[in-house]
Parts: sequence; structure tokens; C-alpha cells
Amino acid sequence: MAKLTPMMQQYMDLKKQNEDCILFFRLGDFYEMFFEDAKLASKELDIVLTGRDCGQEERAPMCGVPHHSVLSYINRLIEKGYKVAICEQLTDPSESKGIVERGVTRIITPGTVIESDLLLESENNFLMSLCKNQNEIGVACIDVSTGFFEIGELVVEASASILYDELTRYNPSEIIVDSNMKGYINSVFELKNSKYLVSSMDDWAYEFNHASATFLKHFNKTSLSELDCSHLKMGICAGGALIDYLSRTQKNALLHINKVFLMQRNNSMVLDASALRNMELTRSLKDGGKKGTLLSLLDKTKTAMGARLLRRWIEQPLQETAQINARLDAVEELVSDVGLSISLKETLSKIYDIERLSSKIAYSSANARDLLSLGNSLSALPEIEKLLSCTNSALLNVLHSSLDSLEDIAELINCSIHPDPPTGIKDGGIIKDGFNVQVDKLRDASSNGKKWISDLEIEEREATGIKNLKVGFNKVFGYYLEVTKSYYDKVPYRYERKQTLANAERYITDELKEMEETILSSEDKLIRLENVVFCEIRQHIQQQIPRIQQSAQVVAQLDSLYALAVCAREYNYVRPTVDEGFDILIEEGRHPVVEKMLNNEMFVPNDTKLNTTDDRMIIITGPNMSGKSTYMRQTALIVIMAHVGSFVPAKSARIGRVDRVFTRIGASDDLASGQSTFMVEMTEVASILRSATRRSLIILDEIGRGTSTFDGLSIAWAVLEHICSTDSIGARTLFSTHYHELTQLEDNLEGVKNYRVAVKEVGADIVFLHRITRGGSDKSFGIHVANISGIPSKVTNRAKEILSQLEDVDMKQSSIMDEVNNRSIVVEQEQNTPAVNNDFTEIVNRLKDIDLSVTTPIEALNMLYSLQAGVKDLK
Ligand code: ATP
Repeated sequence: MAKLTPMMQQYMDLKKQNEDCILFFRLGDFYEMFFEDAKLASKELDIVLTGRDCGQEERAPMCGVPHHSVLSYINRLIEKGYKVAICEQLTDPSESKGIVERGVTRIITPGTVIESDLLLESENNFLMSLCKNQNEIGVACIDVSTGFFEIGELVVEASASILYDELTRYNPSEIIVDSNMKGYINSVFELKNSKYLVSSMDDWAYEFNHASATFLKHFNKTSLSELDCSHLKMGICAGGALIDYLSRTQKNALLHINKVFLMQRNNSMVLDASALRNMELTRSLKDGGKKGTLLSLLDKTKTAMGARLLRRWIEQPLQETAQINARLDAVEELVSDVGLSISLKETLSKIYDIERLSSKIAYSSANARDLLSLGNSLSALPEIEKLLSCTNSALLNVLHSSLDSLEDIAELINCSIHPDPPTGIKDGGIIKDGFNVQVDKLRDASSNGKKWISDLEIEEREATGIKNLKVGFNKVFGYYLEVTKSYYDKVPYRYERKQTLANAERYITDELKEMEETILSSEDKLIRLENVVFCEIRQHIQQQIPRIQQSAQVVAQLDSLYALAVCAREYNYVRPTVDEGFDILIEEGRHPVVEKMLNNEMFVPNDTKLNTTDDRMIIITGPNMSGKSTYMRQTALIVIMAHVGSFVPAKSARIGRVDRVFTRIGASDDLASGQSTFMVEMTEVASILRSATRRSLIILDEIGRGTSTFDGLSIAWAVLEHICSTDSIGARTLFSTHYHELTQLEDNLEGVKNYRVAVKEVGADIVFLHRITRGGSDKSFGIHVANISGIPSKVTNRAKEILSQLEDVDMKQSSIMDEVNNRSIVVEQEQNTPAVNNDFTEIVNRLKDIDLSVTTPIEALNMLYSLQAGVKDLK
């Protein structure tokens, strides 16, 4: 086979080192892709596939994109989940002898993007690293675009639900794993069909000695205890491998990753994946977007950093009452001091995304405009410092003392960077006059030269008498003197002809040539020097990144508190009392999102009383569409908001601390592909029974619906007994159901209270009052709801007929239910009782009584159910 050309050989060598990436190979003003990459990219990017001689018989498939618009093409590939390796020319082609040296300068992957076009301003973009041993899972998570880095450990579970919870919380755009984790994912946890981009790393990167050495080297420490993480062995394995991956792909010192946070789940309220999803805290059930979520309502932040932090606050509410109350104090101060709030709004609005600007500076990819944005943002910090200096609450005081107003950096940028610089850093026009003597000198030389040239035009017109003589410039011929046809006879001998046009001739003179050289060389020198000076300024700021990040964090916190205060005022929220008790007492509570969505209707507020004694479990019955779910969700949302440190939609609220909020609401997405809705429901219930404590809040919106009536009812009954019993869980619980039989629990179980949603019957119609009142309801009005939903009246009339027949049967069933219930209690007490024989006799009698000639199939089926239930427990 013929040998490849040297350049193609160079390409092949680089491609071999980056096989899982599409290689963008810099060739002059283009980035070219070859062979399979070219075929793929031409399809994905819709660009023309051509070919190039590569030394072999067949031409190499090739496609390319211009260097100035490369980012938009890379973005499109990253969005589709590809990895892109960028290969630059490392030596100047004009100065290179032979082939230009080339190398991969960065690998861009979905989890390592820092370019703002590809990032959502109000969301972190996480890259996650996972590894596993027998008992633990090591987790590390990083947002390269902000420098936020966290490590932690999870206990291995058969169901992998903890891992699923973390994935839901972080929503990583890329995951790297060791081989154990890969196996675990494939066997227990079905990520195969998921949206996550998972890549396997070499196991040695996760090996503790290697990972901890990488970790310590990066953070410039000698022992792990200096980072307070020596107890997190698996977390360090995941973290070390993550840093290793980043240094191999990003190829820079990652100066903005200078702090490691520990995942301390004990310090925050646990919200598992189903709670995060069902409560629509930050992502909607509909499309995963922000619209219609609690976050969309509360996000009144003015900065991108604040928006990202508020999202994290909502996804991880606090757990310690002292911390919660500290936030509430700060919010209260901002609520009551309107002047302070208005000034904060003005000042915060001037601040750009300092965190992401810092990352760009760390990557040396920030241009002059980025530095100007940073400078302008930092100029707002002294004002913030002044505003905070007059505050009283402890948290605002802490923010004040942690704020570095960074005047030195703002001043440096302000006096060095031109106020209207170009986007490129190699185009000149970046450095302000008066900042650098050499820059000023070269700039003078160039502008003096230009002045000399414009004077020359006047002088030459006078000297030659050519009235329309012009001095012009083009890239090919440089400066020239242009004379039109009618004046050719006046052209002096010292003019040297350079170019002939249709109606004019262009000339140069010796002195013009000389001046041209002076101007061009000083301009060239100036551009190079400006670039050097700019890079020095950027490098100086690079060293200050930890200071900038610290102030960015203060701004983020202040902005989030400001947003909560604005919501409190605007939406008429009230400060909740959060304490170590167990009472949840909400007076006139409202659903924060639903109340905003109602157009011409008033939201009907409702009270909630829950505790761990007499009011442990609320069973809510009521027609479809009456407001059961809304009521339960509003209670959970108020509890969560209180733990975030937010005021709440109520007249008053007292919230005894809650350690976890569990939800089982409606049919949910498949947790893992292949599971039925009922299976998902049971898995969620199992997780509640396993993990709930007396401090938890449980929201159950109907359970047992996805199976036969009696199975469902029995499961619901047993689950409620278990949750309510102080011997097993005894958690505060809200349960809504259409099984009216369950209202009997109030008489059987201590701590259960029945509530119903009031409706008014007006003739054949019903009016939903949305008011929660004591007592159980015995009607569903399901057919009425079907009617107003547009089901033809022929169908609903038939449904009414069937209903009345079923209700007859149901009367008999419920008496049997009573018996089943009574009997199960009796059976528990006396193992061998003559009651069994009585049951058999009764069942036989009932069988005899059935008149099959008038029994419909549905009636027969229901009878069979009731008979089966009657005999199931008999020995
Ligand atoms: P289903 O049993 O069919 O699930 P539901 O009883 O849970 O129904 P919701 O979904 O909570 O009913 O409420 C239905 C609609 O009623 C809501 O979308 C809302 O528009 C309205 N609604 C609920 N609660 C209230 C309220 N307190 N004030 C005003 N409108 C309300």
C-alpha cells in the first residue's frame, strides 16, 4: 500500500490518540475532517463531503468548516452527544520548515463545555464520575463552566434508587465510570436506553493511590485531611479520576477548580427522584422544562449565579432549623426594607456571570469583551458592600464580611482594556491609551504615519497641479497615488507606475514606500504587542480566580435571598415558623403555582393540621377534579419552601422539621424500561416503607389503582396501617383515595382523620368548592366528570345504569369487607375458631342465591371477586 503523505500521517497519528472523538484538524483557515469523521460530520452538519489526495490510490473523504465559525459547528455536534478533539497548528506555517507542528489542544464533550452558546444560564452543566466497590458508590460531580466540584459516597442498594435520585438531582450531561460501575449500571440500573452519555474509563484512573495522588497534586495539598475528605475513599477515587479525565481532555491547569465540596445529604432534606419529579420543583412533568415549576415562580434572581444557586437550594432544602431560620431572617429583612431591596435590584442587575467568566479566564479563552464584562460586574461590588454594611441579620452580615469588593481587578481592567474592543484578541484595538508606553509609541507611529499620508495628498496636488489626485490603500499594492486619465501628462518622473485601471493609473514614490513600511510594521508590532499585554493582564487575573469565585458566591447567595424576598412581597407570602417539633399547622394555605395559573377563578385556601399524635394521617376523599392532589401538593410545597428558607403561601404556617418528603403521585414515567405503571408504583411505595421515618412527610395520591379492586384496596389498607403505626413508621401522611372503604380506617387506626373536598350538588350538576372539610365522602361523581370532559352522553348514561347495578353489589361487598376486616383481626387473635365453618356456610348460601339468568357479566365478575376475597384467608 502506498505511503500516506506526511500531513495525512500526522492526522492519522492524532486520530489514533483520540479515537472516540471527531477530530477537527486545522489546515490554514479551515478545520478539516477526514475519513469516517468526514462522512459522519458531513451528514450531521449538512456540509459537503469532498476528498483530498492522501498519498494513496483513493482520495481521503474530507469535509471542512471555516475557522471563524467553528464553534457553531462544534456546538451542534456536542448537542448530538459527540466528543470533539480540536487540533491546532502549533507553529507558524510561514516560519515552519517542512510540515507544520500540530497537536490536540482541547477535547470538548457535553460535560466539559464552557462556551456560553451551549449552556443554559440558569442551570449547572454537570460532568459526573462514578465508581463502585462491594458496598459503596463513589460520586464526583463537577461543573467545569463554574468550577463547582463536589464529591461523596452512596451505599450500594439492590434497587439502585439512591443512585437514580442523585442522577435526577444533578442531571449530568456526561458520566464517566469504572468497570465495576459499568457492570452495575448494566445489571441493576437500566441506563442503556436513557438520555445519559456514559463512557468507561480505565480502572487505573480510579485506583485509590493514583486517584488520591491526582487529587492532592491538583489541589496542591500534601494530605487529604487538609481537604476534609480523608474519610471519603470512594469519593476520592471518583474525584481523582474526574480530575485526571479533565486534565487529559482540557489540557489546562484548571485553576478555577480550587475547592472541593462534600455531599452532605444529612444536612439537607432528602428529596428522592420521585419527589423531585412529582412536585415539579425545578422541572415540569410535561417536558422537563422550567415552566410551571416552583423554580419558575420563585426565580426572581437578577444574576445567572443567583439563578443556578436558587435551583440548588430548591433541589436540596436545608435540614438544620438554625440554618433555615438564618435564611428566613435574611429574607425577612429584605422583605421589610423595601429601599434596600430596590437598591439591590439595581446593583445586582449590573452583574454578569462572574463564575463562567472566571472559567473562561482559567481556560485562557476570555477575550477583551469578557474582561470588560468582568470589570463592569466587579465595579458593582463596592455598592453591594455598602448596602450590606447597614444590614442586621446574621446571614447578611456573614455575606458582608465574606465579600471581597475586588477593586484592584476592576481598576486594572478599567484602565487597561479599550471600552469598545473587537472580539478577536489578535486584531488590535484592545489596549487603552495610556496603559502601556510601548503600545502608545507604536500607536503614535502608526497614526503619525497616517497623518503624513493624508498631508501628502494635499502637498502632491499642489506640487503637480493634479486637482483630483488621491492617496489610497489596498492589501496587494499598499499605499498609492491615483491619477485619472485626463491628468496623465502632469505625472512627474519621480512617480513609479504600479497599476493601470480603465480610467486611472496608480503610482508610488520612494518616500511613500518608506512611510508605508513604517506604518505597516508599527501596526503589525502594535497588534502583536497588544496581544501580549492582554494575555499578561488575563494571566494576572487568572491568579485571582479564587477571590473572584468567593465574591461570586456571595453575590449568588444575596441574589437568591433577594429573589425569595421579592416573591414574599409580590405573592403575599408569610414567614413560616420552623422548629424541632412535629406539628404542621398551616392556616389558609395555597398552592403557589396553581394559584398563579387560575385565570378567572379565586384560589380557595385550605388549612392543614398534621402531627405525630392524633393527626398523623389525613385520608382525603372527594370527586375527581375536586382538588385533592392540589391540596396535598400544596402542603408538601409549603413544607419544602419553608425548608428552603422561603416565605410561604398561607396566612400562617408552623412547620415541625421534616427530614424527607416522599411522594407517590399518579402514573409516572418508567423508572426503568419494561416496568408497568403498577410495578413503578409499588417500587415507589416500597422505597417509602423502607426509608421513611417519624420525621418524614408522605404524600400518597391514590395507591393500588393499577391492579384489581380488591388487591389494590388491600394493599392500600395494609400500607396505610404500616405507615400510621408508631411501632413501624408513624410519619405525617396525606393520602387521597377513591376507595371510600378506606375511610373506615379512622375508626380502626389511631391518628387517622378523614377529610373530604366539599362539592355542592345543584340539580344534576355538581359545583366544586375546593374546600377541605372534616369527614369522608361516599360519592365519586366520576361519571359527572366524564360528562364534562366530553364523553358522549350515550356512554355516560349507560355508565350511570351500570353504576347503579354495581352499587347494589357493592353494598353486599362492603358488608363482606367488614367481615374480612373483622375476621382478619379475629384470626390474628384466635388461630383456630369455629368462625371458619360459618364463613363457608355463608359463602355456599350466597352461591345458591345467585340467579344466573338475570346476572350481567360485570355483576358476575364482582360477585366472584367478593367470593374469592371471602375464601382467600380461610385455612
Ligand atoms: P383527581 O382525583 O381526578 O386526580 P383531584 O381531586 O386530585 O382530581 P386536582 O387535580 O387537585 O383534583 O384539581 C383539579 C383542578 O381544580 C386544578 O387543576 C385546579 O384548577 C382546581 N383547583 C384545585 N384546588 C383548587 C383550589 N383550592 N382553589 C381553586 N381551584 C382549585
